[in-house]
Amino acid sequence: MRIASHKVVTGTTGPEPRPLTLVVEGERVVEVVEGIEPDADLVEEWIVPGYVDTHCHGGAGADFSSTDPDAVRRAIDFHRSHGTTTLFASTVTEAMDEVIAQIERMRPLVEAGELAGIHLEGPFLSPEKKGAHNPDLLVDPRPEYVERILEASGGAVRMITLAPEREFGLEAFSTFTENGVAAAFGHSDADNRVAKQAVDAGASIVTHLFNAMRPIHHRQPGPVPTLLDDERVMVELICDGTHLDADVIAMSRDAAGIHRVGLVTDAMSATGQPDGRYDLGSLKVQVTDGVARILADDGTLGAIAGSTLTMDRAVEYVVTHCGCEVGEAAIMAATTPARWHGLAEVGELAPGRYADLCVVDDGAGLQRVMHRGRWIEGAGEGA
Ligand SMILES: [Zn+2]
Repeated sequence: MRIASHKVVTGTTGPEPRPLTLVVEGERVVEVVEGIEPDADLVEEWIVPGYVDTHCHGGAGADFSSTDPDAVRRAIDFHRSHGTTTLFASTVTEAMDEVIAQIERMRPLVEAGELAGIHLEGPFLSPEKKGAHNPDLLVDPRPEYVERILEASGGAVRMITLAPEREFGLEAFSTFTENGVAAAFGHSDADNRVAKQAVDAGASIVTHLFNAMRPIHHRQPGPVPTLLDDERVMVELICDGTHLDADVIAMSRDAAGIHRVGLVTDAMSATGQPDGRYDLGSLKVQVTDGVARILADDGTLGAIAGSTLTMDRAVEYVVTHCGCEVGEAAIMAATTPARWHGLAEVGELAPGRYADLCVVDDGAGLQRVMHRGRWIEGAGEGA
């Protein structure tokens, strides 16, 4: 199959669109040819790399902590139809035994290539910045806990979010990093100094920058300025219009650059579902107008609990609200997260990589999705 457009962003070179023809054989891109080949299927819109969402808890009514494999697959298919061709399944804080059980349940999906990895969000988080995590279950990353996770992982756990100020915190950053698990700074009450120590200890990712950490104050800067500035970390941003103001997203992109900003959804099970009540791990969540908040037993609403965002909407949001070009948005949604997580077969449209791509209009609206050389039915507005 040959597919061409005057506006292809491969991710290999900069964000500027180029006229190119992609030659696809089976699941992979085998050649990228300059210009439009006469026998190619010419697409009017942009062609960009398929999106890589490295922080996602579920969707279509299904939570990745579910014991029902069909539910987990439903969430994967749902996000794929919204442009996410590579996905990490994120957990929420549970008791250690349940964390291990979740890893064991999801590992076969990683081994089958349906998921690119597991992201553990908790249980080693700060109670001060717990967000939508059950505070009763938060613990220190004791070496024996770290050991249990690494043993259960078998390479399937690709990232863990940790608060460095917890006892054994910095040690855990080093141990996870040395064992090939990206250690992410997040849900932390650390100041700028401790945040930098976490990076020195191996942190390579920042879990949803700004959310669940100290804010910027000009005399007490908190972790944000140093993390935006440090070339050793990629910062995740949740660009749903609720978690961050558009000006803050634009500032972060300008400070860190598109090669250090990764768009994530942090989507929970209610994504793609009507407003109502949902579960997030062991907590109850109320979704109103698409915004998910923790629901206390007495009916009061608490912290924002993940999002109902999909990657196509995140890309559209930064293009329409934050002054990003389509190519810049695509790099933040695909190329940058793939590169930081060492996902060498995705994130770029280049020979040898999977033929994972999104076709989008000038406003970055999703039209079509190709996953491993096959068009996804029911994906995008053009379906
Ligand atoms: Zn999350």
